[in-house]
Amino acid sequence: MENRIELNTFFEAYPTFKNQEFHGRYLPFNQLKPELEKLRDKFEINEIGKSHLNIPIYSVKLGKGLIKILAWSQMHGNESTTTKAVMDLLNLFRLQENEEQVNSILSNCTLLLIPMLNPDGANRYTRENVNKVDLNRDAHEQQEVESRVLRECYEGFQPDYCFNLHDQRTIFGAGKQDKPATLSFLAPSQDEERKISRNRKRAMQVIAAMNEDLQKVIPGQVGRFDDAFNINCSGDTFQSLEVPTILFEAGHYPGDYLREKTREFVAFSMFSALQAISTSKFEDFKVENYQAIPENQKNFLDVILRNAMVEGQKLDIGIQFSEKMKSGNIIFEPVVKKLAPLLPLFGHREIDCESQEVQLVSGEAPGENDIVSIILLNNEKLSIKTSHIS
Ligand SMILES: [Zn+2]
Repeated sequence: MENRIELNTFFEAYPTFKNQEFHGRYLPFNQLKPELEKLRDKFEINEIGKSHLNIPIYSVKLGKGLIKILAWSQMHGNESTTTKAVMDLLNLFRLQENEEQVNSILSNCTLLLIPMLNPDGANRYTRENVNKVDLNRDAHEQQEVESRVLRECYEGFQPDYCFNLHDQRTIFGAGKQDKPATLSFLAPSQDEERKISRNRKRAMQVIAAMNEDLQKVIPGQVGRFDDAFNINCSGDTFQSLEVPTILFEAGHYPGDYLREKTREFVAFSMFSALQAISTSKFEDFKVENYQAIPENQKNFLDVILRNAMVEGQKLDIGIQFSEKMKSGNIIFEPVVKKLAPLLPLFGHREIDCESQEVQLVSGEAPGENDIVSIILLNNEKLSIKTSHIS
């Protein structure tokens, strides 16, 4: 196994290349920087620009093949899962360059990876950049410096494929079943008609190839993102420039609020995509294989208290965690989102209150937007916390 990282042994080998310096959701620039420095012995590290607050934005270039692949992550600063996965893959490529599969990818492809496009947002744990602009809605206007850095990188490199790497919220399910969307993908549209152009078809085929591999490890937990066209999104823009572009959305795996399990699946899916592209295996897949992936639904909440008695009425109480940064840690604050009889949603955690009285610690009845770290169930305290599997 030591010299062979095949998809069916990927997870066994994973601890040998996982970057142990990264853990959890908060990944600021000063954690990334020394890890990038360690890659300099094997790969080309370049500063491709600076953020609004003057923090360097780096790219990592590797491989010597003709197929050029551009990938960027943490365009949304609080979406670190794909950055962790990219750094794991870079470690794999660095440690195992002679391994057959790695060698095949690096001799057929040239990869240009931007592991943190929005360092200001990463440091502040915000989706937007420091000017409160969502960079994934700024692809057309390019009002922000970070958007221009990405565009210049794209124009200089002239990629054959683009990977746009993100995290999605825990509200998404893969289709209408009780399955979280642990990973979702999209081959973005390039026009209002959502036509299936040659490049868009390719993106769909690569996604179908990844999906086939992922179904073996997270069956039913892969979703397809909404394809409404928006020229302000980076993916739609690059697709409209006729480059096959793939949106990756890292989502929820049961109990994994730190996204350490999902991180492995992201690394696995990227490896799968690179293999499918470098070997042309993606050509075996059809548009229909892509379209058969269930569409993302907004059908999950983090916690649902079923059959709760609230002031004499039997209700379900739906709770969503709100992420807050407190002294370098991400706190998951439980907030009541919905109270209704028989709430038609799934909870990542469901608690049957068996028609017992539910109250806030103050003794009041819970209502929308209340923070409920602890609630009273029949006068007994019940903690509403995330469970961390790692
Ligand atoms: Zn995002």
